[in-house]
Amino acid sequence: MGLRRLVLTTSWGGLQLVGGSRAGEGTVLLLPQLDLAFDPGRAVRGLPPMRTVFASHGHLDHIGGLGYWASQRYLNSMPPAALLVPAAVEDDVRSLLGTLARLEGGRPYEIEVIPVDDGTRHRLRRDISLGFFSTDHWVPTLGATVTWHRRRLRPALAGLAETEIARRRLAGEEVTEEVAVDLLSYCADSGPRLLDDRPEIAASEILLVECSFFAAGDRERAARYSHTHLEDLLPHLPRMSCRHLVLLHASRRYRLREVEAYLDAEVRPRFPGELHHLNVDWE
Ligand SMILES: [Zn+2]
Ligand SMILES: [Zn+2]
Repeated sequence: MGLRRLVLTTSWGGLQLVGGSRAGEGTVLLLPQLDLAFDPGRAVRGLPPMRTVFASHGHLDHIGGLGYWASQRYLNSMPPAALLVPAAVEDDVRSLLGTLARLEGGRPYEIEVIPVDDGTRHRLRRDISLGFFSTDHWVPTLGATVTWHRRRLRPALAGLAETEIARRRLAGEEVTEEVAVDLLSYCADSGPRLLDDRPEIAASEILLVECSFFAAGDRERAARYSHTHLEDLLPHLPRMSCRHLVLLHASRRYRLREVEAYLDAEVRPRFPGELHHLNVDWE
């Protein structure tokens, strides 16, 4: 099965999300309009063109395509790229990339490894930044928020004629102000404590949350590996203010059809916004 493709309405415009996810097998999420990938978990064709990659943690289902990304960029003489990783795994990721480049017999990959941590903000471009937050997983793991720094006319100037605003601007007055809009938050692998502790994350326009387990008998399994179970998610749904909820990271214990049946029966009736998912059956 190929990747899933979503175009989600946001105040920025239609944001394309291309991705696929299964617990333990691979999670990859591409945001082609921003040249950005979250979690290079699989070697997929759409990954190498992404100039900035964020790896949420060191589990192989989230970094399995990292070498492919770096190698393909090198082989195709693509410009240097940036890899954002939790500071806790920075050294290991650097040595992994060094080892892979040596095995290939070429020069070191032109990948700048940038350590990030809870609270770090990284400027992706003039009007878009990434913010990072710790999740509730059993190894150091970060989620990421995409923030749009929009400029708007200062409210105090609303109602003035265009010519007057232009006159003030030419006179050196600041006529606009910046508004930060959280377009998307990706919660990576996480147990349910994240949504309890950081409710503001669920106010992003798009919220990507893992829901690995669904059956009543798998509750203990979810807790043991710091993953989210459907029953953990249900109480949060009615008060989530995101426009779009995107679920991912379903365990292989459930067929895709079963996952979709759970979403239709349990999640859709409780969530006031639009519900999507990125679960796939990898080959
Ligand atoms: Zn995972
Ligand atoms: Zn994990």
